Amino acid sequence: MSTQRRKFLAQGLVAGAVAGAAVMPREASAQSTFSWKMTSAYPKGSPFYMDGPGSAVDLARRIEAMSNGRIRIQVFGAGELIPAFEGFDAVRAGTVEMNHANSYFWTGRTFAAQYFTAVPFGLNFQGMNGWLYDGGGQQLWNEVYAPFGMVAFPCGNTGVQMTGWFKREIKSVADLKGLKMRIPGLAGQVYATLGVDVRLLPGGEIFPALERGVIDAAEFVGPFLDRRLGLQKAAKFYYTTGWHETATVSELLINKAAWDKLPRDLQAVVENAAAACNVISEAWCQRNNAEAMEDLVKNQGVQVRTLPDDVVKALRAATNKVLADAVAKDPVTAKVHKSYMAFKQKYDAWAGYSEGVYHSRIRGS
Ligand code: CA
Repeated sequence: MSTQRRKFLAQGLVAGAVAGAAVMPREASAQSTFSWKMTSAYPKGSPFYMDGPGSAVDLARRIEAMSNGRIRIQVFGAGELIPAFEGFDAVRAGTVEMNHANSYFWTGRTFAAQYFTAVPFGLNFQGMNGWLYDGGGQQLWNEVYAPFGMVAFPCGNTGVQMTGWFKREIKSVADLKGLKMRIPGLAGQVYATLGVDVRLLPGGEIFPALERGVIDAAEFVGPFLDRRLGLQKAAKFYYTTGWHETATVSELLINKAAWDKLPRDLQAVVENAAAACNVISEAWCQRNNAEAMEDLVKNQGVQVRTLPDDVVKALRAATNKVLADAVAKDPVTAKVHKSYMAFKQKYDAWAGYSEGVYHSRIRGS
């Protein structure tokens, strides 16, 4: 080793020691413990969201185990501490440190939040993860929330949802006119442009409304969670696939000031526990939906249908119009939209070569 190189290394060691001293207060807090609260938009005991592998309760348990008890998180279902959809404001105010929900509930605060859950005709699970983890999506998510003093991580995914339950078959765009359908969010806006009479009902009210004919159609999530509501007993036509929610991301929302107080190793614990739950919850959905779908078709007389091509075409055109309007109104949405769509264009082409061929040629039927 040259003298110069040795000198450089020695200087580096000194610089390192100084840097180490500078971060001492932060490292000293490594022994601190943190007692946090996490609220949810879903009721206590809800499968996938609040109960089971990759759920909010499981996330808290993993964080506590990985941190050896240095972070303890008390988990509250919807309505236990705050109402279902007040998580954004509660985390922003620091009343609670974390909230577990979906970012598309916050489009009234910032429309761009929609892209971090799902947009109609959007990315699938693999593509969404590609954009979030490696395509700039995660950075944009935190950028969008920075003015609100929050950070967020993906921490769950339903995979592709189902179009929903219909009492009568949909044979053309004309059949959507006047159809009373439970469908929340952006997809509701899209359906509304095609004449659907959109109704907003919480999960627990879908079955009685559909059974009594107050509504003609309803979407919820997918086979396992839909069957749990008994929707197959109120409508027989089950339309696939979920054009409106192609891979719905669960969100771990965190107060930025609380986040900044965590030592780096605990931040890594939270981030990695969220990533684990992102994959584990989706795996849970795949297994349970496979079982539930088989049961619905084989034992419960459910008729599976796909939307006719002209209906899909009309929904796609309506989606593009709704998104274009949102982009024109808000520069933050425009920035996120641009990143998402640029990634999607590349990913879709690649998926055509990879997953597309897998599904058409390799996978068994
Ligand atoms: Ca849904």
